[in-house]
Amino acid sequence: MTTIAANLETVRKRIAAACLAAGREPGDVRLLAVSKTFGPEAVIEAHAAGQTAFGENYIQEAVEKMAVLSHLPLEWHCIGPIQSNKTRLVAQHFAWAHTVDRLKIAQRLSEQRPPELPPLQVCIQVNVDGGPTKSGVAPAEALALARELAALPRLRLRGLMCIPEPAPDFVAARAVFMRAKALFDQINSEGLALDTLSMGMTADLEAAIDAGSTLVRVGTAIFGGRSYASAI
Ligand SMILES: *Cc1c(COP(=O)(O)O)cnc(C)c1O
Repeated sequence: MTTIAANLETVRKRIAAACLAAGREPGDVRLLAVSKTFGPEAVIEAHAAGQTAFGENYIQEAVEKMAVLSHLPLEWHCIGPIQSNKTRLVAQHFAWAHTVDRLKIAQRLSEQRPPELPPLQVCIQVNVDGGPTKSGVAPAEALALARELAALPRLRLRGLMCIPEPAPDFVAARAVFMRAKALFDQINSEGLALDTLSMGMTADLEAAIDAGSTLVRVGTAIFGGRSYASAI
């Protein structure tokens, strides 16, 4: 077994144990393998070990990787910041975008989604712990943005996403993730049918699952430490 295959098995066991501890079904939580900064061979190894959904932050890097891997049935998720000049690449190449936090970006994604592809699945990124310089919409603005996104023809609004600051322990991490869960429930109670709560990474996936995450984004625990010098 390769290191990546063994790591994937360990992560799947962590997810299953966290679901069990939270009284949830293991199938309720999807694993997104975050392959940013790693080459196509790492993705091929993960795919051979049964992983099909991959997350990328750097759009140009991702599109190059997709071209090399187009023979594999992979589902690509954009989890990095989306500037206006990158919306076309995202609309053309990704199945999901997790980091939508402005109507203007959402409108461009909808307009630029090629007609032959299914709607782009999107999450609204929420700045759930209030960092002043962070991306993500303020929690108080998430419902209004959700209503606007739900009306765009070529997007399919799936849920919310957050990247809180690292917390000192499980209890502190869980408390922040619970705010995202409360917002998710509130938006659903307003009649929007969100089914995805994208939260939890290598360090905090147990706390996120306990709070109600339905999709964890895991890089380091699968592929190892990243060397940013090699990133585009
Ligand atoms: C890099 C990244 C991850 C994965 O983080 P790890 O700590 O390596 O698991 C998850 N989500 C986003 C948005 C990221 O940028």
